[in-house]
Amino acid sequence: MNIILFGPPGAGKGTQAKYLVKKLDSYQISTGDLLREEIRQKTEIGKKISLDMKEGKFISDEIVNQLIKNLIFDPKRKNNFVFDGYPRSLSQAKNLDKYLEDSNQKIDFIFFLNVNKDIIIKRIENRKIIENRSDDNLETIVRRYDKYMETTKPVLNFYSKNQNFIEIDGSLEIEEITRKINTFIDV
Ligand code: AMP
Repeated sequence: MNIILFGPPGAGKGTQAKYLVKKLDSYQISTGDLLREEIRQKTEIGKKISLDMKEGKFISDEIVNQLIKNLIFDPKRKNNFVFDGYPRSLSQAKNLDKYLEDSNQKIDFIFFLNVNKDIIIKRIENRKIIENRSDDNLETIVRRYDKYMETTKPVLNFYSKNQNFIEIDGSLEIEEITRKINTFIDV
């Protein structure tokens, strides 16, 4: 089963992704994690993106698409993905469609965790205390949220026509969101 978790930073995609990966024994594709790993390992990509990541800026489609390509085409992982934080732009969504088509896969569910800005700000300020991420400060949070909304509107339009697009109130408790997701995948 392939699942996309979609929603602004702080919507709880990472938490739900970890739950689903365990439950389904699947692979999480978090472009945020992949990019942070490039920075940690000081690769060429890592050096290029480090400042933009810190400032909450969008990383180029080219870099992000390149990072996920091998994973998607890996026969051992095929049809067993949870996408978290990708796609984030229309061009990424179209690119993902093409990768999936070329590797004979499809998306089973797209869960959109919808949360407003006030709740996101509160959540990310808490996460800053727990995870100490360099991009979790108020100014960056607001920038990331606004950027997310701007670039993902076309992605939302692109996916919302699909029958397997499901909107979930992301301001609910974690367990309640999980329960709602399960009602769709446990069939
Ligand atoms: P996340 O861990 O998903 O909150 O992402 C953290 C940061 O990584 C974002 O603010 C962006 O700078 C970058 N990023 C993650 N995923 C993408 C993506 N699909 N496209 C562009 N930039 C991304």
